[in-house]
Amino acid sequence: MKKFNRRTFLKATAATGVVATVPIYLSLEDHKKVASEAPVNKVWSRCHGCSSMCGIGVYTKNNRLWKIEGHPLHLKSGGRICARGHGVAADIYNSSRVTQPMKRVGEGFEPISWEQAFSEIGDKLNSIVEQYSGDSVLWIEHGPRGKAYADILLDLVGSPNYCTHYSTCFTSKTNVWPKMVGTTLAGDHENADYMLFAGRNFAGAIIPNGMSKIHKALDRGAKLVVVDPKYSELAKVADEWIPIRPGTDLAFFLAIAHTLITEDLYDKNLVRNHVQGFDEFWAANNTTDADWAAEVTGIPAETIRRIAREMAAKAPKAFLEPGYHGLHSHYVNSTKTAQANVIVNALLGNFYKIGGLYPSQEVNFGTVQRKTPPFKRKGDRADGAGVAGKYPTVEPGRGIAQITPKLVEEGILKALFIYNYNPLRTAPNPAEQMKIKNAELVVVIPTDWNETAVHTADYVLPESYYLERTETPNTVSGHLAHLYPQIMPRFKALEPIHDTKPIRDIVAGIVEAMGHEGYFNFTIEDEIEAAISTLDGVTMERLQQEGLIEFTSHFKEGLPGEYKTSTGKINFSVPEYKENGFTGYPVWEPPATWPQAENEFRLIHGKQPWHSHCCTSNNPYLMSITKDYNGDWMWMNADRAKYLGIKNGDLVSVTSSVTSKQTRVKVTELIHPDCVWIANTYGNFSEKQELGFGVGINFNDFLELQVEPMAGGTNGQEIIVSITKGVN
Ligand code: SF4
Repeated sequence: MKKFNRRTFLKATAATGVVATVPIYLSLEDHKKVASEAPVNKVWSRCHGCSSMCGIGVYTKNNRLWKIEGHPLHLKSGGRICARGHGVAADIYNSSRVTQPMKRVGEGFEPISWEQAFSEIGDKLNSIVEQYSGDSVLWIEHGPRGKAYADILLDLVGSPNYCTHYSTCFTSKTNVWPKMVGTTLAGDHENADYMLFAGRNFAGAIIPNGMSKIHKALDRGAKLVVVDPKYSELAKVADEWIPIRPGTDLAFFLAIAHTLITEDLYDKNLVRNHVQGFDEFWAANNTTDADWAAEVTGIPAETIRRIAREMAAKAPKAFLEPGYHGLHSHYVNSTKTAQANVIVNALLGNFYKIGGLYPSQEVNFGTVQRKTPPFKRKGDRADGAGVAGKYPTVEPGRGIAQITPKLVEEGILKALFIYNYNPLRTAPNPAEQMKIKNAELVVVIPTDWNETAVHTADYVLPESYYLERTETPNTVSGHLAHLYPQIMPRFKALEPIHDTKPIRDIVAGIVEAMGHEGYFNFTIEDEIEAAISTLDGVTMERLQQEGLIEFTSHFKEGLPGEYKTSTGKINFSVPEYKENGFTGYPVWEPPATWPQAENEFRLIHGKQPWHSHCCTSNNPYLMSITKDYNGDWMWMNADRAKYLGIKNGDLVSVTSSVTSKQTRVKVTELIHPDCVWIANTYGNFSEKQELGFGVGINFNDFLELQVEPMAGGTNGQEIIVSITKGVN
């Protein structure tokens, strides 16, 4: 084998102009020497490992990723990066990435040029719009990152159908808070004296700085109580872990409210002067006391009363964490549970209080000048979100993601653009989601060969990896209260290593191929300049140097008096719900399903600290942690397991009304006997992701297609499974 020394290596790379990869035949010592002497570049970016989007510094050498570290001031990272963040950064080199545009031919795919892809997609889209109207076109994505560009496409074809994944995640929360309070409030964990977490795990679905803030509060003597059917990572640092019967958090919240009211422990000024609907709420809930709730939840009545009293004693520096995915799309009672969460916090008088809850501080960005598409009439949304007679109270801006295949089957949707979203793995019942492929045009825009790309796409248009993209600054907000607004952009740290494009260029290519000129005559740099043009003292150079910019606070402690709700008050009873046939206030509603037989359990799920849902299930570093800890095993209560003759590590069959699959069992005392728990990471069935393929099971495998009618959620834990030892 030819030996390379440093001199010959540098000579070779200089001659070819290629310095992107170090040849594998370079010895480790030579490699280390070359690497240590290479210049280091540092660029500010945002992590793409989860919705926290932590600010990161990206260090590169020789146009290769070297390391990342957290931005010290970023609200979410506070200078720290979690395991997922480090893992996903390395995915830039993952072999499962889509490396160029692809077109389905027969059972497989063949590479095509971007020009051919745009031309064929543009022609096909024009013909679909002409034949069926623009209402047959859907753009669906994880969050609103592509919305500004998708809106141009949807306006040009005349489609109302923009949709996010939120109905599979937390739409009960996003539906309730604006209607009840006029905005969403977040917990001030650092300054709180008492924190009650129910169905929320800051140490599993990690926000690094969230945990730092909680630890600071605990060091100061604050109390943390975790109510969760499973002993979560957060429970490990809590003063108390209270296992609750899954699906009954609503009863627990109602009983806390009952104790606060009957023992005269609530904020009467707030209720008297700021609340609408208290009497309605109380008339319906004056019997839901702690004794009643003890029967429903399995939590002793005295514990419920004690927690209510302890919180009242620490109010207003006490709160029930508003929560996120857990509880907010899981049950038929999820929207009522979110309402009861608001009411408990309101009764504690913690709104707009330091140590309580207050809104994320925002900044107003400018927008780039764009050519406006000519007016096109749009019909009702295909999914019925916000439509009278269908799902009138569901937010049209979020939509109902899970029913997309049904709308394809009914012939309502003909062309789908699926961006940064993988419904085949993250929405209920993959066999049902597979029907997406029957649309006349399916364009999937991923970075990797996920299940949706492999099994449904006519065209796969690869987006550049997050380290290869520049994106407009966003306001750093959500989940953590913070007095000082922050903004953070994403700057390109590395040149694309494959034939990929940023989303702006992909949509522009399709729009122009359709024959629409001039709608994308701006660059991403123009967009950034326009965004910061409204912010004094903020320049592109400053953003590039500092990454994150923090502004002075305009927050004033104390109730605002006017609320952006339909009544101008805090609504304990929501008029919009009442007008559409629901109760305006929360009232006990049991889950739709209960385990009955001796081998039946409720299947619940959650995050592990080293994975981000299913999008990390093919990452070599994170999957090696899974292997070390048997992270794909299903948790089962030790007493129930013993009764069923199941031992730790046994293979069992898990069967619901939808399917039957096998997995191994972790036997533990740290889970409520009514349920079994799995991480929501596994069950990868993309053959092009070799590491993750076939590892573990996923709750969506077992979930029937459902729509919670108030907010559109999937009812993701309305799953009863029977469990038998061995393979059925
Ligand atoms: S919490 Fe972890 S995965 Fe999420 S953005 Fe921050 S570093 Fe990335």
